[in-house]
Amino acid sequence: MNIIIIRYGEIILKGFNRKFFEEKLINNIKQVLKDHQYRFRRADSLIYLEIDNADLEAVARKLSKIFGVVSINIAAVTNNELESICQTALIKLEEQLLTENHSFKVVSKRGNKKFPLSSLEISREVGAFLLTKHPNLRVDVHNPEITIFVEVREEQTYVYSKKIPGPGGLPYGTSGRGLLLLSGGIDSPVAGWLMAKRGLELEALHFHSYPFTSERAKEKVFDLAQILTQYCNQIKLHTVNLLKIQTEIKKNCPEEMFTIISRRFMMQIAQQIALKNNCEAIITGENLAQVASQTIQGLTVTNSVVDLIVLRPLIGLDKQEIITIAEKINTYKTSILPYEDCCTVFLPKHPVTKPRLEKVIKAESSLDIPALVEEALANLETIEFKQ
Ligand code: ATP
Ligand code: MG
Repeated sequence: MNIIIIRYGEIILKGFNRKFFEEKLINNIKQVLKDHQYRFRRADSLIYLEIDNADLEAVARKLSKIFGVVSINIAAVTNNELESICQTALIKLEEQLLTENHSFKVVSKRGNKKFPLSSLEISREVGAFLLTKHPNLRVDVHNPEITIFVEVREEQTYVYSKKIPGPGGLPYGTSGRGLLLLSGGIDSPVAGWLMAKRGLELEALHFHSYPFTSERAKEKVFDLAQILTQYCNQIKLHTVNLLKIQTEIKKNCPEEMFTIISRRFMMQIAQQIALKNNCEAIITGENLAQVASQTIQGLTVTNSVVDLIVLRPLIGLDKQEIITIAEKINTYKTSILPYEDCCTVFLPKHPVTKPRLEKVIKAESSLDIPALVEEALANLETIEFKQ
């Protein structure tokens, strides 16, 4: 029989609030296991899961996406006879053996004080046995390529080796709620994931310019929201049609300010939706100097139209660093599908790169901003995505 062992990390440090963090984490784990029969045990910042009739590799892959989880092991369970422990350790070793020249070590823990050997002796015995089967391996206690863990408990012993890394971070939902501005691009899903990793619960908002942007472009954003549910369990996505606002800006404002003024509208609409839905922050995938509207001056002008804190976790990353995360979280392939975004509608040829706030405010003063925002909010649609 095999079980899953989950290790969690940073929340151990949370001292006073530890219980709150642990409970959230456990709830999030149980949510992933909702279709399984399982037994659950927690000890020393480890969670032990015995799951009936399940593909443990598949379950472990799902669990490895839960924020707060540092690593996962699939452990073999055996009885407390030294010979069975050795045989099980051999199986776990051979699962990982690519050549006969690896270095390894055995680390043991004796939870059962009645067991006749000390933990050091267990490691020595098991290590010696493994060497008889694979005499070309080397023991390296400092920096081994393979580590075999043996944990002797009251009733049974767990043996494990391969670690499946988790994302780390804090349990989802322990840091409040934020509204993610979700475009179809590479950046915004990554920005949402990074904030969710710090425990922020996500709600999302997408602007489209239908019929200038297609149904398919919207579906791509639905797909991205669906991918994010693997980490966030469920996501409420709001969509707002921006076309009327864009048309008015195009008609009444200087061409070079089109993008920056559109972005100010996006932020105002976002703030209203955030406040209505108990979100305490706005999250964007903005990134310093990536495009004309994301210079310091551009960000200042965009930011100044809202009071809520705007979280921009990608601000200092290079594009390649963002892409690496997008690939890891599985949003990249969807993000690069070539569908138009609302920002590409009416794109100015020479956008301002150093907008001045007074000038932008003056330029947009010919618009009835509250009425346009209200009209846009009236066409809001909301869809819920579930894991
Ligand atoms: P890309 O990877 O192409 O840069 P992006 O999503 O970052 O995609 P930008 O034009 O850089 O696109 O926009 C900066 C940020 O503004 C986005 O990360 C996103 O948070 C927000 N944003 C842009 N367009 C939209 C949109 N149509 N709906 C919602 N938010 C948007
Ligand atoms: Mg971007």
